[in-house]
Amino acid sequence: MRTAKQVREYMDSKKRRKGKKRPWVSFKKGTFFLRVGPPWKKKGEVWKDVLFHGGFKEKVYCAKNDIDEDTGKQRKCVVCRRVAELKHDRSKRGKKLWSLINQRSEGLWNVLVAKKIKKIGGSRIVKRYRDNKFHIWRASYKWHMLLVDIFSDDDYREKSILGITHPKYGRLIKLVREGSGRDDTNYTFRVMDKTTPIFKDEEKTEEILKTKVNLDKVVSGSSDEELKAFLRKMEKKAKVLARQDDEESQEEESDDVDEDDDDDREEDEDSDDDDDRPKKKHSRDDDEDDEDDDDDEDSDEDDLDSQYSKMKKGVKSKKAKRREEEDDEDEEDDED
Ligand SMILES: [Zn+2]
Repeated sequence: MRTAKQVREYMDSKKRRKGKKRPWVSFKKGTFFLRVGPPWKKKGEVWKDVLFHGGFKEKVYCAKNDIDEDTGKQRKCVVCRRVAELKHDRSKRGKKLWSLINQRSEGLWNVLVAKKIKKIGGSRIVKRYRDNKFHIWRASYKWHMLLVDIFSDDDYREKSILGITHPKYGRLIKLVREGSGRDDTNYTFRVMDKTTPIFKDEEKTEEILKTKVNLDKVVSGSSDEELKAFLRKMEKKAKVLARQDDEESQEEESDDVDEDDDDDREEDEDSDDDDDRPKKKHSRDDDEDDEDDDDDEDSDEDDLDSQYSKMKKGVKSKKAKRREEEDDEDEEDDED
């Protein structure tokens, strides 16, 4: 039994941890107006790439996320090394393993979510943003690239290379999320025609800019132990999957075993990601477990449905828990 003092200390430490909680944001079905933050360091980018292996519960963060400040070199990653070896491995097991462990990426962004907007002469001027601060949005590869595309558009960069993120001459983005499941979720982004400042008031703008998150500090690679454990687990899984495939194909006497592997490999050789290709989408159509989980962690486990369905259940409860945490700040947005 803890003493009263210990209990108080325990409660304090909980509170402190909660206070440190990163300001993540996720978007439910609906329409939102966002403002993307400018770089958090001089000459920096406005987003942060995050490299990972696997998906769902089995996700590990690539060691290459860690960059030595002095040398600028990336930490060596055992999983990446294995992925490289698999380049020339055409065995079924090799292909299975490749799809389980190849390196993928997602993007982190500093965003302001408008909470109160006034329309003045055709422009939308934001009066208030959610929590009056920047949040971190984690976008899976496909949506991340859409945002990058918008950001890099020359039309929006006439005044400054900061484009849509410029505090004074930037633009609001209208984000619409349709669908709520992992497979039917769709985001559309539309950039407002008119440039607008973050706030009309420059001081208020300065203040809110101070809440930008240093996204370099949010990301780090998993430990070598974790990466090795992940690799061991996936090696085993690939072996099982390859054997299952063999057994099935023997039963059916069919020769379509390789269906969706070959061209994936060519396309992804430099291993940025393999998310969300239309081809993959199709194979999802006959996926019967249409769960309504509300998250962005798209994954490429299509050929592993059965393997993952168990895992998904576990993750679902974990996600639900996490969502509870995230949602205590969620309020309805009144856009106009
Ligand atoms: Zn790696």
